Amino acid sequence: MPDPVILWLRQDLRLSDQAALIGALMEGPVIPVYVLDDAAPKHWKIGAAQRWWLHYSLKSLDESLRAKGSRLILRRGDCAQELQLVAQETGSRRVHALSHYEPWWRNAERAVAKELDLQLHDGMLLLPPGCVQTSGGSPYQIYTPFARATMLHMPPHEPQPAPSHIDAPLKWPAGDSLDGWGLLPANPDWAAAFGKDWTPGEKGARQNVASFLDEVRDYDVARNLPSIEGTSRLSPHLHFGEVSPAYVWHRVSSASGDAMTFLKEMIWRDYAHTQIWALPTYGSQNARPDFDRMPWRDLREAKADFAAWKKGRTGYPIVDAGMRQLWTTGWMHNRVRMIAASFLIKHLLIDWRHGARWFWDTLVDANYANNSVNWQWVAGSGVDANLFTRIMAPLTQSPKFDAADYIRHWVPELGHLDDKAIHDPDSHHARPSAYPPKRIGHREARERALAAYRQSRN
Ligand code: FAD
Repeated sequence: MPDPVILWLRQDLRLSDQAALIGALMEGPVIPVYVLDDAAPKHWKIGAAQRWWLHYSLKSLDESLRAKGSRLILRRGDCAQELQLVAQETGSRRVHALSHYEPWWRNAERAVAKELDLQLHDGMLLLPPGCVQTSGGSPYQIYTPFARATMLHMPPHEPQPAPSHIDAPLKWPAGDSLDGWGLLPANPDWAAAFGKDWTPGEKGARQNVASFLDEVRDYDVARNLPSIEGTSRLSPHLHFGEVSPAYVWHRVSSASGDAMTFLKEMIWRDYAHTQIWALPTYGSQNARPDFDRMPWRDLREAKADFAAWKKGRTGYPIVDAGMRQLWTTGWMHNRVRMIAASFLIKHLLIDWRHGARWFWDTLVDANYANNSVNWQWVAGSGVDANLFTRIMAPLTQSPKFDAADYIRHWVPELGHLDDKAIHDPDSHHARPSAYPPKRIGHREARERALAAYRQSRN
């Protein structure tokens, strides 16, 4: 019997269209291993909402592996050390994995490659970073030319089916019990409602793709309306790699209606990963250094404002609805993410990094590339970004994108208000006492933000 081969799984928790699994299967019996390492990513360790997701995703993956004659080995600690121990226990030397692009994963790949024979495969993105480049041979910084260049390589490869059987090694290495990892919250169980919205795992991901196919034709308009479910809600499944981007691309392209707007959103995901690959500090440093001079408010002074934002009690209904949706379900509609992020940065003048951190802990789809690039896009500090001086007006955005029902659902104190008053109860003298007053008026906030920006330019 050939030596067993390790399959190192990270944010690629699937059996279909899994190039690393296919590579491993060609060489011998496979030992699928997931290592939980909370130390190496430092302050980017997996956030609280994602730990809930991870628990169920690993459980689902183990069940799928067992149905094919295999199982998932769980280890905790430094990836390179743990994989080396597994290799010693089982007599394997070779490791197959999909390339990941977060800085801590790239470090881990280098460390593993020093000790073992690491074979990396593509499959996290439509195209690996660096595949499309400017005529000067550097990665694109601006999304639109990046998307145009990516489209020339599309469609991606045909997705590969899951294998029917996975050969097991003669001896399994030791592994942790999933329940012992304590990934689920307790006392209080703030994720109690997550299960109503989400089914982590490959099966849930594929069901999500299938149910979205009927909505593709309306996506162009519906994606901007938070009151209806006009988007795919695939982000956590894509983050954990429960479904491959190539699979999503092919399925959605075959649906009736024009899928182009959706496919371009998928390219945003590739774009964001290309940015963190080129600039690994994207999550913690302004991509435009001139933003280092921005006079953000000290968080001690802005403490009450920051707490009101986190709790959905800013007095701006659309912002509050979004922040409460986030807390309750671990997800927020994209249009509302932009409004809520802009409100924190520009209305409250709080450094985007504090907001990005809160999202990191509370989103089930928290993704280093997508989160960092989008926060910096809103702030204006990204390599491709909205202008800081373009300040979103939440009270205008709310009726423009027809958010009345969305607010009714997430801010029940305002549930009795009609479609006119609900976007801005104060201006209709309709604010119930249970709903907080605005933390700051729009005009005042706008002037303060612009003054701060001018100061940073002097
Ligand atoms: P759909 O509209 O159905 O899009 C399909 C897929 O395309 C998404 O699942 C996602 O993988 C990708 N996508 C869509 N929009 C974007 C985008 N703007 N940037 C990158 N990829 C995109 N997305 C995350 O996956 N993780 C994050 O941590 C994250 N943080 C964000 C923070 C802010 C401040 C903002 C404004 C956006 C953030 N996004 C993030 C992007 C976007 O909001 C989500 O990807 C989207 O809301 C997920 O819902 P969906 O799957 O229904 O999207």
